[in-house]
Amino acid sequence: MNGISLLSPRLKALVLLCAAGLLMLPLVVPGQYVMQLINLGLISLIVVVGLNFITGYCGQINFAQAAFWGIGAYVTAILTLKGLSFWAALPVAAVVTGLCSLLLGIPTLRLRAYYLAMATIAFGEIVQLVLVHWEPVTGGTSGLRNVPGISVAGHLLVGNVQHYYFLLVWCALAMWLSLRVRSSHLGRAMIALRDSEIAAEVMGIDTVRMKMLALVLSSTYAGIAGGLYVGYVNYVSPDLFSNAQAVLFFVMLVVGGVGSAVGAVVGTIVLTALPEALRFLKEWYLVLYGIGIILMICFLPDGLVSMSRRFGLGGARSAAPSPHARAGTTLPTPLPEATPATAFAHAPAGPHAAAPASAVPGKAAAATNVLVVDGVTQRFGGLVALDGVSLHVARGTVHAVIGPNGSGKTTFLNVLSGAYTAQAGSVLLDGVELIGRRPNAIAKAGLSRTFQNIRVYNSLTVLENVMVGAACHAGMRLAGVLAGSARQRQQERALRDSARDALEFVGIADFADRPAGSLAYAQQRLLEIARALATDPKVLLLDEPAAGMNPQEASRLIAIIAALRDRGITVIFVEHNVRLVMEISDCITVFDFGKKIAEGTPQQIQIDPQVIEAYLGRPRKSRVRESVNA
Ligand code: ADP
Ligand code: MG
Repeated sequence: MNGISLLSPRLKALVLLCAAGLLMLPLVVPGQYVMQLINLGLISLIVVVGLNFITGYCGQINFAQAAFWGIGAYVTAILTLKGLSFWAALPVAAVVTGLCSLLLGIPTLRLRAYYLAMATIAFGEIVQLVLVHWEPVTGGTSGLRNVPGISVAGHLLVGNVQHYYFLLVWCALAMWLSLRVRSSHLGRAMIALRDSEIAAEVMGIDTVRMKMLALVLSSTYAGIAGGLYVGYVNYVSPDLFSNAQAVLFFVMLVVGGVGSAVGAVVGTIVLTALPEALRFLKEWYLVLYGIGIILMICFLPDGLVSMSRRFGLGGARSAAPSPHARAGTTLPTPLPEATPATAFAHAPAGPHAAAPASAVPGKAAAATNVLVVDGVTQRFGGLVALDGVSLHVARGTVHAVIGPNGSGKTTFLNVLSGAYTAQAGSVLLDGVELIGRRPNAIAKAGLSRTFQNIRVYNSLTVLENVMVGAACHAGMRLAGVLAGSARQRQQERALRDSARDALEFVGIADFADRPAGSLAYAQQRLLEIARALATDPKVLLLDEPAAGMNPQEASRLIAIIAALRDRGITVIFVEHNVRLVMEISDCITVFDFGKKIAEGTPQQIQIDPQVIEAYLGRPRKSRVRESVNA
């Protein structure tokens, strides 16, 4: 799928109109000064569209974008002054900038968001100092003059108009590649990790590498913009690449609309034009400018680009109802009973497709048990949340984990899925040790999950949410995405098909194009199941899947869990709804105070004195029976 197909027909028409306007622009521009301003705006635009990868998509604050811009400009200037052609110097500038961002990203991107912000501010200062003090190479405060210009096919570009068309091509390319990334599994993964880092990891996304990729893309955009800048103005000095400039780039993105390449365009235009338009106000200009930006952030927190929705010009996302519009609380028509046979017709036979338990020859225990947990202990300071828990989960069964609040059920799922690393014990998934692995590696090994506190990716559509899961085994492949290769397009189609199948399986395919955040609670839980299912898991963990569901919805959930089992997927679920647990489980494990106190079939558990004790504080069978029958 290419970038343009993301746009609605009205927006497509608008894009064509804009393109025609941009081609004619030099005919109507009043003078050289304005033309120059437009050209500098185009260069800023490339920097800001680049910034959108790390700040917009990944939600990481980067104040080094001006420094990267400067590095690109200086590398190009130094090399072309030494006699290298612009076209040879520009790729070097791009690579050097990308490498610098790797150096910055490797130690900081593992940490939380504000560490990158701090590191980038420091990096900006260091780059300034180097540019000023490394005089023999950078020319110190006076910078480098008479930098050679840009030749295209043997023709040296002269004047603002020629440069305008040249820069316009670069801007179009920058935008187009940015849209390609956005509409690929990479863009979805970046936004997924911004919306919920842990939910992205359990879908197999290596969030650290993904942020690194976004940072390298961002800085490479800035580096290329720097090369274009110095080829255009033939002069470079350190003061241009200050942290104040970095903040300006950041504000351009925020004012336009974080997370949208179109927002980057709007923000860049407004903040390039506004200072000029307000110039007559002299010293009052800065005051008004500041107030204007504060007002914009207060009243248009999603940026200027969000206004387009009011005029129905949105892309795929904004064409859908506002994320705040709640859908009805009832589920759509398709019931899961029809689904197991038809669903996943398109899904590639995944590496984890397993036969149902009944079909598995009952040979050795190792083959029957998909998951073997042995002596797992998880402490939080002095609190022992899991105390030497051991259990076996048979392949293709539904295994419930129940217990009073705080008994360690969620912690158990967190240990299995890699959110926590247990201090002791082992978890074997088909013989592969999971403890010590990161959640993304565990997802790839075939274990996926949903969350007790719903964690859908609110900024993505329902279908895109599930496509994130479907891309679990896809790998990175940036080159294929940028080139829009046939393989990439085919992968995108396959992801879409298997995501649709997963949505049909849980019965919410009608909502595919809605923003995920607009779904009702119960539907968001089903969406999480579909998303986890799309990773093609051997084992699926569901943490209180029926929470917030009415009895009718809970019945549908039971049918879905049964259908999952029929597909050969092992389901481990934590649930308070006793009716649901008793109706669907093949085996129940009961926790109390982090210990396994009982295990058995629903019939055995209902009459287990220790279970009754744990739930009611004293043995009274009738009460448990009552709640079971409720
Ligand atoms: P359940 O899901 O059975 O209600 P949890 O697994 O959420 O219980 O919690 C078990 C115990 O571990 C509780 O006492 C809880 O406060 C504690 N706990 C869980 N997660 C953490 C954490 N990240 N840090 C500290 N304590 C935790
Ligand atoms: Mg819990």
